[in-house]
Amino acid sequence: NNVARIMGIPFPKITMEQTLELLGKVIDQDQAGLFHVVTGNPEIVMSCQNDKQLRSIIDEAGLITADGIGIVMVSRIKGGHLPERVTGCDLLIKMLEAGNRKKWSFYFLGADEVTNRRASEVITQTYPNVSVLGGHHGFFSEEEGLKIVEEIRSLEPDVLIVALGAPYAERWIHKHKSSLNAKIAIGVGGSLDIIAG
Ligand code: UDP
Repeated sequence: NNVARIMGIPFPKITMEQTLELLGKVIDQDQAGLFHVVTGNPEIVMSCQNDKQLRSIIDEAGLITADGIGIVMVSRIKGGHLPERVTGCDLLIKMLEAGNRKKWSFYFLGADEVTNRRASEVITQTYPNVSVLGGHHGFFSEEEGLKIVEEIRSLEPDVLIVALGAPYAERWIHKHKSSLNAKIAIGVGGSLDIIAG
């Protein structure tokens, strides 16, 4: 059995390395449609219990990862044994390392304006072969949101990083899935704050 069920949510038993391999293939194969990665933390799992709409967003996602040691530990108690945690921040760093080798392009949405700009600068300096196509802070109106979707659509990033907090990021990605011309979109929580330092 290759999934561990935690409160009904099926987490595939994959390591960070396997996750990167999978996402690398998604980018290389250029398949139709956006591949949504949910970094599944306890809050998301809990919210799914009485939020059917969120549950269906998770079910439709391409991948849900074990975001935190809590999810991994619960899987072990239940005998499901997830191999390791794959948190949003760790996954983002690994994606940037791989992107630096393979010249992937990124767009960064979320966090406040100063943090978003600072994170982009740090990433550009640290990963010079990554192309940072653009970014926008995460405190926007509905109308501004549509302009952001248009911008991302025209830039066609390989990877769209959405740091709006869970489950807002998951809902936002799902809502705009068919309009965003990105190969992969990942909700990463407070990762841009960590990178900005
Ligand atoms: N954020 C945002 N727009 C919002 C609310 C939050 O861009 O409307 C950002 C916030 O600045 C922070 C991130 O989303 O960078 C949320 O981080 P947190 O660690 O709280 O997220 P979680 O790990 O709970 O998903």
